[in-house]
Amino acid sequence: MESKNKNKWIGIQVDTTKIENYTRPQIENELKKRVEQAKELVDLNALLVWAHSSDENCTFLKKLSDSLGIETYLWYPVLADIADFTVPEDSKVENFIGTKGWGEIGRWDKLGTYLGGREKFEFVCPNKTKTISEIYNLYKDKVDKLDFDGVFLDRIRFPSSAMGFEMLYTCFCKDCENKLQEEWGEKLKNYRAMANDHYLKLQKETINIMSSADSLHSIVYPEAMQNFLRFRDSSVSRIVAMFSDYARQKGKKVGLDLFSYSLADNVSQDYEMLSKTCDWIKPMIYCHSKGPAGFPLELYLFLRSLLTLNPRLDEKELTGLLKKITGLDLPKKVDDVLEKGVSEATIMTEMENISRLNLSKGVAIYPGIEAMKMAGTCMITEDILEKYLKEIAASKAQGMVLAWDLIEMPIENLAFIGERL
Ligand SMILES: [Zn+2]
Repeated sequence: MESKNKNKWIGIQVDTTKIENYTRPQIENELKKRVEQAKELVDLNALLVWAHSSDENCTFLKKLSDSLGIETYLWYPVLADIADFTVPEDSKVENFIGTKGWGEIGRWDKLGTYLGGREKFEFVCPNKTKTISEIYNLYKDKVDKLDFDGVFLDRIRFPSSAMGFEMLYTCFCKDCENKLQEEWGEKLKNYRAMANDHYLKLQKETINIMSSADSLHSIVYPEAMQNFLRFRDSSVSRIVAMFSDYARQKGKKVGLDLFSYSLADNVSQDYEMLSKTCDWIKPMIYCHSKGPAGFPLELYLFLRSLLTLNPRLDEKELTGLLKKITGLDLPKKVDDVLEKGVSEATIMTEMENISRLNLSKGVAIYPGIEAMKMAGTCMITEDILEKYLKEIAASKAQGMVLAWDLIEMPIENLAFIGERL
């Protein structure tokens, strides 16, 4: 097949679970049609296949992709929503109050029911060695069995405020306590007290704290917690290195699905550290998604949490301060942050910030954009795509990833992207 797009690397995510109730011929026809269209319209380079997809469908997609010159990646969720695995209660991250799993303050109302409950976002503590090794074994089996060209690691983080604002202060489990003592010679209980103090302070002195903050991170955490945060970053990076090393030993490439740069600190994704473990990074620069990792939902729930903690706050003052801190073009009303999202120019700002980092040499950055039309989550029109693609071109990114799902991605969006490439 003739290549139209010689300049940009294009990856697309795909999740076959929602068509697994179809008959075998229907499934294969659908997958074949979709992948061939993507090859034809955007000259697809890589298909990132959700690990929950049946082995039969994965094998089918691998064969099909091979025949079309498309690389396949196993899109693997590592610390939450793991395929064929239920997270044991005692392995879930624990916040400073002792709550495991999800918190309460500003928690996303669709948590647990999103996509029919298939995505729960209940995070495993990266320091729960036994549980991690169980997940690692499942992962290795899948990597071996499917023999894709690469792995695309997802859910490599701590919870965001969408899982409840209190969950930004995790993990305070026994294993974290031991590890922090052994490796850093520090007492976790000191950080528990600091988290508690700062949380109380956020209920009274929100404006003071925000006035001197220069990132989302510095609103949530006091300076004195820096070592604890570095401990979290290195805990995440250690797990990513472990999963990545296995793939690399098998000669496979590694891509990472990360929160967009300005949101990444709060979930302990250190781009510089993580860049050592991968070939490329997809920062999820979702300007219009009302789903986890999307700027609209993450910022909206962050603001809602601050308002819940301190109901006397003035909405306009709050959004104004957050606008100043993040440099993002935010609306004045908190509800509008969710409804209107952020400007597409965010792509350029985020890419510039990433370009200033000291990333491992040769690591490519492929911004992740939404290309879906999903009622209640995001409606990506041609107008938005036009702006997205302009920003990506201006950022000089070598490629991009289209999220989330080829099966439901509107054909007109793919065609539009193809024309503009
Ligand atoms: Zn822990």
